[in-house]
Amino acid sequence: MELLLKESAKIIKKSNYTIAFTGAGISVESGIPPFRGEYGLWNKYRPQVLDLSYFLNYPGNCWGYIREIFYDFFADAKPNDAHRVLANMERNKLLNAIVTQNIDNLHYDAGNNTVHEFHGNSKKLICLKCGQVYDVNDIDFENIPPKCVNDNEILKPNFIFFGEGIPQEAYSNSFAAAQKAEVCIIVGSTGEVTPASYVPRTAKQAGATIIEINPEETVFTSVITDIHLKGKAAEILNQLGKLLF
Ligand code: NAD
Repeated sequence: MELLLKESAKIIKKSNYTIAFTGAGISVESGIPPFRGEYGLWNKYRPQVLDLSYFLNYPGNCWGYIREIFYDFFADAKPNDAHRVLANMERNKLLNAIVTQNIDNLHYDAGNNTVHEFHGNSKKLICLKCGQVYDVNDIDFENIPPKCVNDNEILKPNFIFFGEGIPQEAYSNSFAAAQKAEVCIIVGSTGEVTPASYVPRTAKQAGATIIEINPEETVFTSVITDIHLKGKAAEILNQLGKLLF
């Protein structure tokens, strides 16, 4: 492992354009479980609660679960060392962009500025009729479903539900970053969610070295990964950080 870490640090220092591609795994040590796997949210909740057509038909029912998952359980989650090392890398010009599948805002909370949120953000809510965006701190979650002050329409969390497209700007920025990448660090992603998983694949095709951080093997590992740093995100990134700064 020490050799792999040293080699990774050397490659990152030499790179002119490095991106990180992050999934739910990076936030596990902040107390937010992933969807899949043994302790995943889908063992407790039905994915249907995040299906757009189900939400439109049963907003009150869906909002009960959405409040519980995203605004009761995870409201106080804080960035962990993995988020902090990535923020430090950006400050030290060793990281150019993060493409994240996460919706928890923890990369911004840690201090990163260039973050392409492929699936949106749970800290904002949007009116599906007039498009007004609300900050989560301005919402009274005692009264659900929350409604728009302009037209009394139901608000939806501003992350994508099953059945919705990827936000256009995040999509184009993510693939543009992948095309430029000389190094792509994949942290805590199964690679099973498309089209997000095409981002590191695009980086690989464009010639990037792929460094993967995950305690498990994923669909990326045997196909595009050059260096697998097997372990938890915070632990591995802390060790890598010591070699970088
Ligand atoms: P995922 O693709 O995001 O995979 C989770 C991965 O994290 C797995 O490969 C697992 O081995 C790995 N992992 C677990 N603990 C880890 C740790 N401590 N360090 C590093 N890696 C670790 O899959 P998913 O959970 O099914 O998510 C599906 C989609 O939903 C993704 O877009 C995901 O980002 C999103 N989601 C986001 C959040 C969040 O915003 N925090 C939470 C759940 C799901």
